[in-house]
Formats: sequence, structure tokens, C-alpha cells
Amino acid sequence: MPKLSNRLDWFSESIIRKMTRIANQYGAINLSQGFPDFDPPKEILEALKDVSNKGPHQYSITWGAQNFREKLALKQEKFMGIDINPDENVLVTCGSTEAMMCAMMSVCNPGDKVIVFSPFYENYTADAILSGSEPIYVELKPPAFNFDKQELRNAFKQNPKALILCNPSNPTGKVFTKEELLYIGSLAKEYDTFVITDEVYEHIIFKPYKHTYLASLEDMFERTISCSSLSKTYSITGWRLGYIIANKDVIDNCKKVHDFLTVGAAAPLQEAAIKGLEFGQDYYDKLNDIYEKKKSLFLNGLDKIGLKYYEPQGAYYVMVDISEFGYEDDYEFCKWLAKEIGVAAVPGSSFFRGKVNNYIRFHFAKKEETLIEALKRLEKLKEYKK
Ligand code: GLN
Repeated sequence: MPKLSNRLDWFSESIIRKMTRIANQYGAINLSQGFPDFDPPKEILEALKDVSNKGPHQYSITWGAQNFREKLALKQEKFMGIDINPDENVLVTCGSTEAMMCAMMSVCNPGDKVIVFSPFYENYTADAILSGSEPIYVELKPPAFNFDKQELRNAFKQNPKALILCNPSNPTGKVFTKEELLYIGSLAKEYDTFVITDEVYEHIIFKPYKHTYLASLEDMFERTISCSSLSKTYSITGWRLGYIIANKDVIDNCKKVHDFLTVGAAAPLQEAAIKGLEFGQDYYDKLNDIYEKKKSLFLNGLDKIGLKYYEPQGAYYVMVDISEFGYEDDYEFCKWLAKEIGVAAVPGSSFFRGKVNNYIRFHFAKKEETLIEALKRLEKLKEYKK
């Protein structure tokens, strides 16, 4: 067989999605790949029924159906506090996974450098490599996962083309403060760098933390490429509806990448999801309350079992320290956990640069009864502490 592309030698398949397959293989409760086991809002499901009869069933405009972009622009204007023109500033993508890849392909030339905070969501390394760029990692230091200002400045001194900012952060649950974002923004301006944000957890923020959109800070819209999705906000991860909001020149370029990569996000699903984009503030308040409860339930359970973790400020993940179990390899630990304990987690090493293997990541976007059953199973871990 002829040789395949060298590009793929530099990263492996997604460990997050592999853990879902391992969870299924052993019938484990899947707290690895982050997706809910409860239904999306009724109104969205009803809309989907209507769409099945009325359509649309053919392609929408490649960069997103007109009505979807208009509703999305209205919603995001309200939350982001900036003017968004649905024709010029919005591109609808197949999930934020495509949004991030489009952004990277549109911004980076082969050989460019891109700053990535570590720990990081595993897609970013693949995004960097597939777009021909090279990641420069800047550490987020536990327990608060803050960065060192000088270390970040040193990374900017290497003249990166972009910085990737996951806020709220997967996997740590860190919510960047306005002060931190102003500092990142000031460096981006000083070194003339883009910031590509991944804000898919923008509506899952725990009290007293607040989400600040980088694009809303002074002079930042022109250099911020805001990527997000409807997946987590409306519990529709399988619908693959994401988007980019940015200035017209950036969007025009992202449209080209998107057009040839996927043609467009699913037209019927865009039509049905409009119902969600029309929800009022009460929906988002309730969503936060739901996740506050899930977080408390799960973290209290971990406390009772005596597992050490970093409390998240946003998103729906928690990083748990597994040092006490004496495993050298966190992936082996996760396989054992899925098989013998019946709960699946993601090995922390897939989120870190370098050899960090004493963490695992659980997510708690599950029904209360699922979390209670998972905690019951995890109690057995007490017997295995060294
Ligand atoms: N963002 C989710 C996670 O981190 C799901 C990832 C995916 O498979 N798209 O688990």
C-alpha cells in the first residue's frame, strides 16, 4: 500500500471518544465523553416533529440558513453585548469542532505558531497540526488554573499567529476573569495576534463566577474569532450545530473553508433549533440551576468517597486526582475503572502537554439518578486506595 499522509503521525484518535466505546463495551456509566443522557427541551423536539413534515430537507445556504443566522445574531448580541450582522459576522458550522478547525485553517499558514493553554481540550492539537501550525503551550497552574503572566508574554514573544482560548475551560472548568482576559487581549494587540475562542460552555457558569466574552472587550472584536455551539446549551450534542462570530473579513475566509469542507450544517436541524434560540432569559437561568444541582450532587458524592478534585467554576467537568491508587498509567486506570467499577472517565494525560498522568476527568451532564448510581459504584474505590 502507498504511504499515508505524515500529518497523521503527530496525533492519535480522540481518547475522549475512544472512552465512550470502552464504556459501551463494558456497559459502564459513561462519564467520559461530555454529553447529556436527558432530553433536549420539549419545544425543540416539537419543532423537530413539525420540520419532519414541513421541511426544509434540502441544503440551506452554505454559511447557515437565513432565519437561523438572524435569530442567533439576536441572541448573541444580547449575551455578548456587541453588534452582530447575521449576513456579515456569522457562519453556521457542523458543531464547534468544525468552527475551530475553520478558524485555524483561515488564520494559520504552515509553520505559524499558536498558543494553547495546557491542560487543553484535545482537539486543539489536531486543529493546529491539520492547519500546518505548531502549538506553544502555556501552563494553567492548579488549583485555580491561573497562568503566569511572564510565561504568557514569553509565548507571545515567539510571534504566534493566534491564541486558542477555551472559556469556560474544558477540562478544568476554569472561568477566565475579566482581568485575565484584558491581559490576554493587551498581548494580542501588542503582538498583533488573533484569539480563537471556544465558548461552548458559555451558559454553564457556577456562582459567583461570570462569563466575559473576549470579543466584547474594547478593540477585541477585530481580532477575536468566537466559536461556540448549541450542543451544550440546548443538550443537542448530536445535532452538530456550531458557529463562528467574527468580523466580516475573517468570516468571509472561514466561509470558504466551511463551504468546501462540509457545505453546511443540517438544514432541518437548524430550522428546529431556532426554537431554542428564541428562549428568554429564564431558560438560561434554569439551565444554570440544573447544572449547579448536578455539580453539588456529584462533588458531594466525591467528597464522601474521599476523592480529591478541583472544583470547577463553569462547564460540566471535574478533574479528579488518582495519585492514591498507585497506577503509573491513567489510561490503564480508566480502562480498569470502566471494566471493574462500571464508570467511564477520560484519562487526564490526553489534556496535558508532557507526562501528567495522575488525573482523570469525569463529566456530570447526566440525570440525577445516573449520577447517584455512578457514585454508588465509585464507592468501591475506597477499597483500592494504597
Ligand atoms: N466536548 C465534549 C468532551 O470534551 C465532547 C467531545 C466530542 O466528542 N465532541 O467530552
